[in-house]
Amino acid sequence: MATLASLTLAALLALGLPAHAQPQNGARDDTTVRIGVLAYKGPEAVQRDWSRLRLWLQTRLPGRSVELLDFDQVGLTHAVRARAVDFIITSSGHYATLEQDDGASRIATLASPWSASPQLAIGSAIVVRRDAALQALADLAGKHVLAVAPEAFGGYQIAAREMLAAGVDPERDLDRLQFNGFPTQQILLAVRAGRADAGIVRSCLLEQMIRSGELGAGELRVLAPLPHPGSSCQSSSRLYPDWPFAALRHTAPALSRQVAVALLTMAPTADGYSWAVPSDYGSVDELFRELRIGPYDYLRQWTFETALRRYWGLLLLALGLLVLWAVHTVRVEQLVAKRSAELLAAQQRERGMADEAQARQAALDHTARLAILGEMASAIAHELNQPLAAIGNFARGMARRIAAGRTETAPLLEGANEIAAQSERAADIMRKVRALAQKRAPERRKLDLTAVMDEAVALFRAAHPQARVDWQADAPAPVLGDALQIQQVALNLLKNALDAQRGADDAGAEACTGAAETPLVVTLRARERDWQVCVRDRGCGLAPEQFARLFEPFFTTKAEGLGLGLSLSKGIMESFGGTLSARPNDDGVGLSVCLTLPNFDLSETP
Ligand code: ADP
Repeated sequence: MATLASLTLAALLALGLPAHAQPQNGARDDTTVRIGVLAYKGPEAVQRDWSRLRLWLQTRLPGRSVELLDFDQVGLTHAVRARAVDFIITSSGHYATLEQDDGASRIATLASPWSASPQLAIGSAIVVRRDAALQALADLAGKHVLAVAPEAFGGYQIAAREMLAAGVDPERDLDRLQFNGFPTQQILLAVRAGRADAGIVRSCLLEQMIRSGELGAGELRVLAPLPHPGSSCQSSSRLYPDWPFAALRHTAPALSRQVAVALLTMAPTADGYSWAVPSDYGSVDELFRELRIGPYDYLRQWTFETALRRYWGLLLLALGLLVLWAVHTVRVEQLVAKRSAELLAAQQRERGMADEAQARQAALDHTARLAILGEMASAIAHELNQPLAAIGNFARGMARRIAAGRTETAPLLEGANEIAAQSERAADIMRKVRALAQKRAPERRKLDLTAVMDEAVALFRAAHPQARVDWQADAPAPVLGDALQIQQVALNLLKNALDAQRGADDAGAEACTGAAETPLVVTLRARERDWQVCVRDRGCGLAPEQFARLFEPFFTTKAEGLGLGLSLSKGIMESFGGTLSARPNDDGVGLSVCLTLPNFDLSETP
């Protein structure tokens, strides 16, 4: 049983040291050299396997006693930190961690009889039953695997590196990864008993157990062994330096030197073990870095720093993309702002042009109405003459009666009423003419097309008393539009029809003879969704090439004509959703020019 003189029992208990490592007396004995040994095969094996070494050191360190203290890996780490040991013999992986964290420094490396060199001695054997179907490391996926401990170098970490390289992540891809601890022989016994598919142990353990008779030669085998010339044990992995003998930060340098010399001069044991100059443990470091364990454990923790260290390339790329995206966004926004401004300017230009076009249209409308009025002026004057003459006659008759002293009330009252009626008739004509001549914006309101046509025909008859117009309609025809504009269109059609019949008369063509006496026929009829008004004449019609240009602005065949009436009329009808069209009459004599307007009642209730 080991003695740790410098530590109190409570302190060691607090450190979690194994019971056998706890001090038995109260004071540290400076003459005792304590060597902490990793007991991977159990405490007894430590005393047995390293007794030759202990005795040799004892003889080479006169006046001192040498003690071997057995620990598991965690216990040995605690003992190092508690300065409970002066030297350590431990696995290469554990040493590499202690070197990094606790300043352990190797003074010799074990030279084992089974290895070609101390530099290439330690490996992992992944052991399966001889008859198992497993052949390659990749076959371990989904299997139940036993290992020593997460921190065991040969008993887990070395194999883990190989499994990862074969595409099997031991932490993720196995059915079960079970850590069995020390002694490691139990792992192989469990595999033999079929309690697991495979076991990870330090290489050579299988061979040792077969030699000692613990296992039969044909029971187990090493999975996917790699060729290692000069090595007498099978490994499923690459090889790493053998166990080191290391001094600690607090070990006296003189003692370290003495021990180093003693180790290097020790003759090989009966089993063939000896000590060589310390190996390079760089390959162990490489393994740790790859598995992100030991000194590289921090790589597994997700801090900003580790993320930066691991993913700086990706982060740089992301940053670059972010900058590109920002530049792109700003550029797109600039373009959008520019395009919006252009669009706004274009819209304003368009609106300006539309306003201008509307104003021009209104001016044209007005001109056209004035033109019709101009054409109708003499007829209107003639029409006005009639009531004025009648007024004159009545006034003179009344004056004569009064002068002759015939002042009976009844005839004078009749005369005055007649004068009033005639002046009302004249005022009515003037009202209509003024309305037509007025400059005003068109309206859209519900109208009775029959009433509008009544008025237009009346005005036309008043202006052209000699013309005969056949017009009859009583049922109301509801439409949406501007009464004056529709009247303007109707007057235009009537005037054109009258002109055509007069022209026909003048021409004296056979088909048109006597057309002047023929009445113009105005009809209004309801169709499926709209109302249609047609003005039919018996004039000479038009030659096909003239007919094709009928609605062209400024197309006229008249010496005094403007050629605007039909094109403006078509525009007016279309602005209310209607049409204006012409066709020769069925018998080939004269034209029918028709306007249509949607039936307001039907359009209200679609
Ligand atoms: P304008 O009457 O000033 O010539 P319009 O646009 O009203 O202008 O008519 C254009 C031309 O269409 C007329 O000059 C005439 O030749 C022809 N036209 C219009 N209506 C008729 C019609 N009912 N019969 C024959 N020709 C017509």
